[in-house]
Amino acid sequence: MTINIDQLTAQYPLVKELIELKETSWFNPHITSLEEGLPYVGLNAENIQDASNRLARFASYLAKAFPETAITDGIIESEVVPIKKMHNLLEREYNTQVQGRLLIKKDSHLPISGSIKARGGIYEVLTHAEKLAMEAGLLTESDDYSKLLNKEFQDFFKQFSIAVGSTGNLGMSIGIISAKLGFSVSVHMSADAREWKKNKLRSHGVNVVEYEQDYGVAVAQGRKEAENDPTCFFIDDENSQTLFLGYSVAGERLKKQLTEKGIEVDAQHPLFVYLPCGVGGGPGGVAFGLKMAFGDNVHCIFAEPTHSPCMLLGVHTGLHDDISVQDIGIDNITAADGLAFGRASGFVGRAMERLLDGYLTITDERMYNLLKQLSECEDIQLEPSALAGMIGPVVVTNDRGYRKQMEFSDTIMSNATHLVWATGGGMVPEAEMSYYLKNMLSNQ
Ligand SMILES: *Cc1c(COP(=O)(O)O)cnc(C)c1O
Repeated sequence: MTINIDQLTAQYPLVKELIELKETSWFNPHITSLEEGLPYVGLNAENIQDASNRLARFASYLAKAFPETAITDGIIESEVVPIKKMHNLLEREYNTQVQGRLLIKKDSHLPISGSIKARGGIYEVLTHAEKLAMEAGLLTESDDYSKLLNKEFQDFFKQFSIAVGSTGNLGMSIGIISAKLGFSVSVHMSADAREWKKNKLRSHGVNVVEYEQDYGVAVAQGRKEAENDPTCFFIDDENSQTLFLGYSVAGERLKKQLTEKGIEVDAQHPLFVYLPCGVGGGPGGVAFGLKMAFGDNVHCIFAEPTHSPCMLLGVHTGLHDDISVQDIGIDNITAADGLAFGRASGFVGRAMERLLDGYLTITDERMYNLLKQLSECEDIQLEPSALAGMIGPVVVTNDRGYRKQMEFSDTIMSNATHLVWATGGGMVPEAEMSYYLKNMLSNQ
């Protein structure tokens, strides 16, 4: 599809701001209720329950295969913690009184792979493994899945391979879990993938294939190789409903965590969640789970780098995956490697657009500054991508139009909970982190 930029910017002035790489935000004037929006998702509460049950079946395996998950009985989950000092800092720095409380969801510190991909990526591999083992008559739902550690299963899974294209974190999740189960696994990595991630994967016995181009090329090559091999399962980050459902389980779990903390979420106590968005599966799946758990009282805002605003571009213009940021002259080069996608998932955009409140873009420079500030005031270390949403509470607070549309009075805002979803960084090596803290990427 050829894009006429003049026509597009005339119709959608916001696109001009994207082209100029300006930080911007857009709140959807057509947000619908969950009831109205849900049919477009094509998935429901039962699908989430099914994913949740599957993860519960695998818990005994995970607890043994990855001892770091034993303390949560094999459930891969992260903490929610208040970040009061960061809250104060944001208020000072942006001269904005952010009413309500500010929390962070530390998916950055999820076990096994240290990013939000430990939800969807691992779930998809487990789903595939379960299916293969059941079809072969080796496994039933009532079994203790820790038997998957036995040599019999390792030998069985060795006959099958798994392939995925990745900018880094998805590859880490899929690679580590696949190799542990016994699969032969190839991760096709784009140029922006960090060297330490490749090395870590190789140390787990994963075949890492490197590309000089961006994610699109790595995925296309991975897919092509997989097509030539009938025993190979290709994991499709752009369109996989399985990945999406793996992420969605986060909703019910967050609800439980907030209840345990005595935090109310209802019409008078809205919950704002700020989710860094790459291709869209991670934040889309989490947002779906959140909507199913909290209904219309949760408000999801996606955050993207100014150099990779693919979801905002696709949803705002209604073109979804028929347009890429490159089509409008944006380079898709960002230090936020987990978010470096030029074309959004068409599935996620079309499924979720009615249920997402808004989108914002942020410069690499600001992500780096926030990274440093969070490290200094809260001693929480993240990778640049994970900071994309940190500016969200300021953006929401200052957007009078959005607050008016949603009838968020000062009283309601003072009851609000702002939750920044920190999506990665827990496994960044110290040397690499010291570069991040100096506002730069290492030369790999
Ligand atoms: C993958 C990733 C995201 C976004 O997930 P998508 O499914 O690509 O939208 C956000 N942050 C980090 C650190 C990631 O690795």
